[in-house]
Amino acid sequence: MEKIIINENLTQYRLIEALDRVSYYTSAFLFHNKGQGVLIDSGYRRLGKFIKKDLDQSSIVLKAIIITHYHKDHAEGSTVFKNVPIIASDLYEDTFTKCQNVTTYELDIPNILVEDKYLINIDTSRIEIFKTPGHTKCGLSVLINNDYLYVSDNLLEDINNKIIVPYLDVSSNPYEHYKTIYEYQHLQFKTLLLTHGQVKNNPNLIYEFGERLFYLENFIKSEFTKDIDECLQNKAENYSMTAIHKINVRNAKKYVSIQPTSFFESMNASQKKSD
Ligand SMILES: [Zn+2]
Repeated sequence: MEKIIINENLTQYRLIEALDRVSYYTSAFLFHNKGQGVLIDSGYRRLGKFIKKDLDQSSIVLKAIIITHYHKDHAEGSTVFKNVPIIASDLYEDTFTKCQNVTTYELDIPNILVEDKYLINIDTSRIEIFKTPGHTKCGLSVLINNDYLYVSDNLLEDINNKIIVPYLDVSSNPYEHYKTIYEYQHLQFKTLLLTHGQVKNNPNLIYEFGERLFYLENFIKSEFTKDIDECLQNKAENYSMTAIHKINVRNAKKYVSIQPTSFFESMNASQKKSD
């Protein structure tokens, strides 16, 4: 486990998950200012312990822990903290119940539920938490001072910065995932923070978002029948964890009755409006 000080206000805590064919980082971020901090995701319990030990040795007081969705690698670490308010989506329950089944520890039930947006001010810093369904139904993202955008698992990369294809868990809706990525493109920020990936600066991002929109659009328009090769913008060998596509096919099937044409027409219409 390692601690990376990105700057005087932002710290990344991360570990490496090594699977058979791929390795990737799993991170949590601490934003702090004038002795008050907010933890954005909490990793596995062992990462949570590592963070708590570090905070106990500092003068930083945690104001809140944001759980961007209830998967073990984001939510389990919060269980080592006591009396710190937990913030999560008001749609958290389904994923919480499933996650509880794979977690050895009692997960923390959130104290603050985000219905649309939720704002935390720390001194002059503005931490905006907002709903971004995609990877899961209960997904949240965090925008800090229009400098940092934390997208959680709506963008994924392996340890070599290879793009991991969008991952739609059993709760997620592919249309919402598309919309979320589309909306990220219109936000103002300088640096992108991923749970599973390296910290990225703006010039790299258009490519990153475009790749995912391309995949999701093709996947949706084929009514979830196209092979992975036909959904990806580049050759499949340029991507990591392509086996996820099969999971996506299975999980997206329930949305097959929605008319993709009208969805993309309305997305294009809103694009023209904003131009
Ligand atoms: Zn994750």
